[in-house]
Amino acid sequence: AAQEGFDAEDVEGALGEAGHGPLPVLAVVGRPNVGKSTLVNRILGRREAVVEDRPGVTRDRVTYEAEWAGRRFKVVDTGGWEQDVLGIDASVAAQAEFAIEAADAVVFVVDATVGATDTDEAVVRLLRKAGKPVVLCANKVDGPSGEADAAMLWSLGLGEPHPVSALHGRGTGDLLDEVLKVLPEAPPQTFGGGIGGPRRVALIGRPNVGKSSLLNKVAGEDRVVVDQLAGTTRDPVDELIELGGKTWKFVDTAGIRRRVHLTEGADYYASLRTAAALEKAEVAVVLIDVSEPVSVQDTRIITMAVDAGRALVIAYNKWDTLDEERRYYLEREIETDLGQVKWAPRVNVSARTGRHMEKLVPAIETALAGWETRVPTGRLNAFLGELVAAHPHPIRGGKQPRILFGTQAGTRPPRFVLFASGFLEAGYRRFIERRLREEFGFEGTPIHISVRVRE
Ligand code: GDP
Ligand code: GDP
Repeated sequence: AAQEGFDAEDVEGALGEAGHGPLPVLAVVGRPNVGKSTLVNRILGRREAVVEDRPGVTRDRVTYEAEWAGRRFKVVDTGGWEQDVLGIDASVAAQAEFAIEAADAVVFVVDATVGATDTDEAVVRLLRKAGKPVVLCANKVDGPSGEADAAMLWSLGLGEPHPVSALHGRGTGDLLDEVLKVLPEAPPQTFGGGIGGPRRVALIGRPNVGKSSLLNKVAGEDRVVVDQLAGTTRDPVDELIELGGKTWKFVDTAGIRRRVHLTEGADYYASLRTAAALEKAEVAVVLIDVSEPVSVQDTRIITMAVDAGRALVIAYNKWDTLDEERRYYLEREIETDLGQVKWAPRVNVSARTGRHMEKLVPAIETALAGWETRVPTGRLNAFLGELVAAHPHPIRGGKQPRILFGTQAGTRPPRFVLFASGFLEAGYRRFIERRLREEFGFEGTPIHISVRVRE
């Protein structure tokens, strides 16, 4: 294993970059037009196009990574709910509910020039019940004359209103300092849930694929109800379920059981729920309804799970409905639309008949094992050495980039850093990923490969 040209600092720098754990989540909530998107852009320190999203348009991305004073966290943008989609009160309540379930802390934005409205007061009640830390942002305080407006918001009973001009940046630093005081260093539900804690499963899929049916099937009568956030809702947010002799935590089952049916904006709402469940889970079980053609929505949900870095199992549900013809097309759809995730364990189930339910747990365990696989550096470099000798990178511009050294920077999911003498083309990186999978398994897990080029 040649480590030429690299020192410990390079390696550590790369590990630091690639090896981050779960980040705490901050949600920004408030009525439409109070300046949430403007504030989110401020927090991100760049002008993302969050403001331009049209209501009802599905947006995959709802969380963004941010950093302040050397600490990293995720910011959840809830700005996509607009009044013409859900109705103003419903939209704001949905945001608050989302924040309750998904966030570790909340910034509640109020327009100080308008003052507290009834809708604001309603959100305050929801936030109070949830018991998550809340920082009150009195926005649109563009100058000292607005400070008095901000002070009026003490009446909300959420503590000190922090006067901010999201538009000009005034006060946002102080606001973020406050946020960091209440935001935990890491989410309380860290990976693994502590030693021996139940593994966390997100059951996801587009509406009507059979999530609640499957949940009922696996939960049976032995459903144990825990993790009820004091007083939030009648439904528990998560449920502990005995399955295959073990206890599993199915996250955000409240979202599955509550069944929100909306004609418009439902996709967006579902997408937020999926994102929230993925945040909390270690492994995603994505349900696909085999009675219908595999859709863009299905592949989008799978992409969300992969992008979130979760272990992945694909469950093809409603298997009882398959006839020979449909089965023929299904296999072709899987080949073309889901070829990117061939590595995910597949189970063909029926929530209705109970078919192959017993295969779910082994598939989940396989995926989690892949997700946690660690390849010793020596073995990795022996493998890379042979690979590179047998299949060198194509020569580009008279130069041939070489992989000098590789290391696995982290697990959950596996992350590799390759040190190379030049830029490695995407095709070559994919080739390496394929060979890594052939050699070491990684069934059911995305793997990340980053390349550091030695100039
Ligand atoms: P959202 O619907 O809560 O996400 O609100 P937006 O961020 O889209 O902002 C709504 C409007 O308020 C936009 O026209 C913003 O330019 C404006 N706005 C946002 N923050 C401020 C601020 O601090 N001061 C002033 N004067 N206007 C603001
Ligand atoms: P969710 O929206 O993903 O929670 O889906 P549901 O669990 O509510 O299921 C949607 C519909 O599909 C219901 O009418 C279920 O009875 C039906 N369904 C769910 N699983 C199966 C299955 O395995 N086979 C058949 N034939 N129907 C199913």
